[in-house]
Amino acid sequence: MNAKPLPEGLHLDTLAVRAAVDKSQWGENSEALYLTSSFTQPDCETAARRFAGEEDGYIYSRFTNPTVASMEMRLAAMEGTEAAIAAASGMGAILLLCMGLLKAGDHVVCSRSVFGSTIKLIAGEFGKFGVESSFVSQTDLAEWKAAIRPHTKLLFAETPTNPLTEVCDIRALADLAHEAGALLAVDNCFCTPALQKPASLGADVVVHSGTKYLDGQGRVIAGAVCASNALIRDKLVPVMRSAGITLSPFNAWVVLKGLETLGIRMEAQSLRALELARWLESHPAVERVYYPGLPSHPQHELAMAQQSGRGGAVVSFDVKGAEPDSARSNAFRVIDATQLMSITANLGDVKTIITQPASTSHGRLTEQQRLAAGIRQNLIRVAVGLEHLDDIKADLSRGLDLV
Ligand SMILES: *Cc1c(COP(=O)(O)O)cnc(C)c1O
Repeated sequence: MNAKPLPEGLHLDTLAVRAAVDKSQWGENSEALYLTSSFTQPDCETAARRFAGEEDGYIYSRFTNPTVASMEMRLAAMEGTEAAIAAASGMGAILLLCMGLLKAGDHVVCSRSVFGSTIKLIAGEFGKFGVESSFVSQTDLAEWKAAIRPHTKLLFAETPTNPLTEVCDIRALADLAHEAGALLAVDNCFCTPALQKPASLGADVVVHSGTKYLDGQGRVIAGAVCASNALIRDKLVPVMRSAGITLSPFNAWVVLKGLETLGIRMEAQSLRALELARWLESHPAVERVYYPGLPSHPQHELAMAQQSGRGGAVVSFDVKGAEPDSARSNAFRVIDATQLMSITANLGDVKTIITQPASTSHGRLTEQQRLAAGIRQNLIRVAVGLEHLDDIKADLSRGLDLV
């Protein structure tokens, strides 16, 4: 829909503040928030053409709204895809993608380490409707390849993963998918286009939880799918129109404004995370640090090549302590001793967040499943925000010095 005219070849930082729908007749400099459920039509013939999809024009905010369109255009421009479609949440975006691409009998190959609700959605909800799925190692390409069947339609990856920051090779997975006649979708929540552009590495679809770094200040739930014009127009817009997994214009506007500072936030938060990871690695109370920016990370080189030389803003670490009892009590002691950080399972905020995955995000797994996933009782995840690093270290020291 009527994009603002911009010169060719702009950089991500410029697109982040400029890409949007064209301004209204009032010439507003900051993009307007269009809180309206429907749009009036000039006459019946125009209305008929717009409802039939023969002419662009706003109709009804379940599937067309200028504020939402601005967010979609901006995110697509930043990801380097032709188009994007917003959804009510990150999970809503993945639901939209699966509804648009899959039918009974189709098969999905997905990493075992992706966001827990993604596994529940694909294996559980879509399983009920006859979509088959296989879950494979995040990092073992041979396992991905072996899992592909003749009716495999989609490979789904997320990199780096939560909370262990495992990295997979997007280009290699894209090649595998394309050889099999399937599509590769990448959940780019942890890196965002500021650090990693999956489409430039061959991914067909990029999904986002806008709730995390895109908003960046912990205010709204939002999501989006970025892909080609054809995929969005032919496969996803019809589902959105029928299913109504719609992002509200207000939430879209908040994310639109969040995108303006995405580049500098990701840079600043990644730099803090790297320094924190180095400090943790040398701390006597810490057993192991999981951070792609550290040379000790098993996929460090791949991560640096794929993520603009940055590790992202999430650092996880194991505190010392024997499984399970003293491991859990030491983790709780470190977390409960903090006076500054937020104890919550979200991430992607300018406020630093600390959590014990074993009792929160991964609390529904059995002890055995959790250990198989490498998530022990002594694991702590820190999603680094924008506080001064000395204050973050001091906050962690309160508990670490007692372990
Ligand atoms: C949070 C998250 C989601 C789901 O997003 P919501 O906006 O909470 O629905 C999906 N993928 C990843 C990697 C996430 O961290």
